[in-house]
Amino acid sequence: MLLNTHADPDHISGNEGFDYCYMHPNEEDVYRAYGGAGSILPVKDNDIIDIGNRPLKIIFIPGHTPGSIAVLDINSRVLISGDSVQDGNIFMFRKHRNLSLYIESLKKLSMYTHEFNIIYPSHGSFPVYPELITSLIEGAEQIINGTAEGKVADMFGTQVMLYKYPYAGFLCDIPEGKK
Ligand SMILES: [Zn+2]
Repeated sequence: MLLNTHADPDHISGNEGFDYCYMHPNEEDVYRAYGGAGSILPVKDNDIIDIGNRPLKIIFIPGHTPGSIAVLDINSRVLISGDSVQDGNIFMFRKHRNLSLYIESLKKLSMYTHEFNIIYPSHGSFPVYPELITSLIEGAEQIINGTAEGKVADMFGTQVMLYKYPYAGFLCDIPEGKK
């Protein structure tokens, strides 16, 4: 069985080995645009997928992408966070990403922190811990309210703004007046 946290290309390159995958339906457009094949079994917030005495709870956390999810491995008290909670550089540039929605989603995730002790992210250090969620919310809010300092960086030929904090970074579109 395959469950995708989201459909960015670095997360779906093995999908063709499966006839179907579990994914939030908001990812379908991006998934197909990147050539994703097979059927999608839609998951939604609060769904439980039981892989055999191991219930996994889906937590819908849009922002990094429109259909990003985190997966709570309930009995192991582990959160699988996809790209949304990690200490590397979090991609928030290009139009299918939404930083305000990301902040809302992380605030929602922080209401679950009594249900997990450890986070398995897709990038950066492994593992990370629930305190990181609070830091990411603060960092993203500083970008929104204009108090964060960014510097221009090149990402696959696209000019983006990198906001680097001690705990993680955000790669964002360059704000209008700074191009
Ligand atoms: Zn990724």
